[in-house]
Amino acid sequence: MRGFFHFVKFMIEDHRKYIQHQRTDFVVYVVLNILIVLTLYYGVIVAFPLMFDTCSTPVLMLNYLWGVWLYVAEQSNLQLIRLRDSSIFTEGDVQSDVTTGRKDAVSRGTQGKPLTRTDRDSTISRRSKVPDSWHYCVPCEVTVPPRAWHCSTCRSCILRRDHHCVFAMQCIGIKNQCNFMGFLLYTAAGTLYATVLSFLIAVYIQGVSCWVWLLRNVLIFYVILFDFSLNNLLASLNFIGCVFSVGVLVYYIRLSLAGQTSADHSRNVCRKVPGRSMFSLETMREFLGPSPFLRVAWPFHEVLPNGSYNSNDMKRFEKHQ
Ligand SMILES: [Zn+2]
Ligand SMILES: [Zn+2]
Repeated sequence: MRGFFHFVKFMIEDHRKYIQHQRTDFVVYVVLNILIVLTLYYGVIVAFPLMFDTCSTPVLMLNYLWGVWLYVAEQSNLQLIRLRDSSIFTEGDVQSDVTTGRKDAVSRGTQGKPLTRTDRDSTISRRSKVPDSWHYCVPCEVTVPPRAWHCSTCRSCILRRDHHCVFAMQCIGIKNQCNFMGFLLYTAAGTLYATVLSFLIAVYIQGVSCWVWLLRNVLIFYVILFDFSLNNLLASLNFIGCVFSVGVLVYYIRLSLAGQTSADHSRNVCRKVPGRSMFSLETMREFLGPSPFLRVAWPFHEVLPNGSYNSNDMKRFEKHQ
């Protein structure tokens, strides 16, 4: 019980940090949390009993259990994205300044060697936004590994940085990539579940045509102006969430099969390993860790050590040792 109170206290303190330093992100994060509850409420509590009004109690209980698991999985992944910081500054080494949030440059590199400035490296960071070699980061005042890239919001370089996720108030990097994909997976599963139920209710119970159902879901203002009901509004919000989460999930599965971050993809940087096809499970294993599907499906998987870049990156690390 004491452990639980400590955990709640830690979470409150942790969130307070974001209220002070990342207000816009915090607002988006709160809106996302509300949307998660609303979409699950619509799918599990409103749509399922409406569609299967004569179903037995055990079936209804299974539906509720599914809803609870979806919520736990979405929340766990969301919180772990926040807590699994891929910053180059590891916890033991960092001296965080509470007033500014800036992390002081007293870190060690991913290979355990001290990160030091060199004149050659200092020119690289000015030329390239996402350098593929060890380079000097001016704000962090340290030399950082390939694929690490500075985030002005997190005020640190992030190992194998993908992007800064405003929904989670954290950068997506090497430590939380699986949790990010896990969050997308469960959000896609929950919203898809509710979307299928919403379609069945509209077509088979209300007798609405497929096209009207689609129109009502795609154009949220159509619902607000011409066909308003709380259920229709929730169905529409859920449908938009479904299209967004399924689309982004498919995109990230494709990227991880190619060993790319979204930053690599937008810059057309190919991470193909010689002797393998462009999209390979082996590449995905190197990118996400062993048993990648399990790591994505189970939020509490072990975090990879900092040095777990793919084989191409490892060759580059070796050159710098
Ligand atoms: Zn930096
Ligand atoms: Zn960031």
